Amino acid sequence: MTVMKIVEWPAKVLETKSSEVVEFNDEFKSFVRDMHETMDEAGGIGLASNQVGVAKRVLTIFIPWEERRGEPPEAKADWHDKRWTFVNPVITKKTGKFKGQEGCLSFPEIFENVERAAEVWITAQDEYGKSFDVHANGLFSVCLQHEIDHIDGIVFITRMSPLKSNLVKKKVMKRHRLEAEELENEK
Ligand SMILES: [Zn+2]
Repeated sequence: MTVMKIVEWPAKVLETKSSEVVEFNDEFKSFVRDMHETMDEAGGIGLASNQVGVAKRVLTIFIPWEERRGEPPEAKADWHDKRWTFVNPVITKKTGKFKGQEGCLSFPEIFENVERAAEVWITAQDEYGKSFDVHANGLFSVCLQHEIDHIDGIVFITRMSPLKSNLVKKKVMKRHRLEAEELENEK
């Protein structure tokens, strides 16, 4: 297994609509395993394929249950502590509204409130090509919507107010500038 490099915004691949997966061969299954390993290593609960530079409709999720997470504390659901792979996922229905703080492996150190649907119904395939349906609520629902946005080429700053989104963009650009300067000074 291999830990892949996570692409950070403003990489173009993050704003590229990913293409359907049609071949479920060994190479693909090994790529999915690498995605899970990369997500775990980065300490993320979700990862979309274009975040490792591959514009395919695949995402991985693993949400460990922590007794005290959230306010009020989250009850343990059947989607906790489960390793999920969604290939070619489609949201078939959504209801309600939920606003919560989100982070993104492609935007290190940025945490902002984003409004999503509270519950979603998804139809997808697993890494073997087998179809399944899932009803998601809570953090699982938020995570799925965030990752499906990714494979559609939508980064979470798009879901923020223009003011917030501009602030985040400036913050990220400033950090990149400082990092470039540091590199320059080391020469
Ligand atoms: Zn993300």
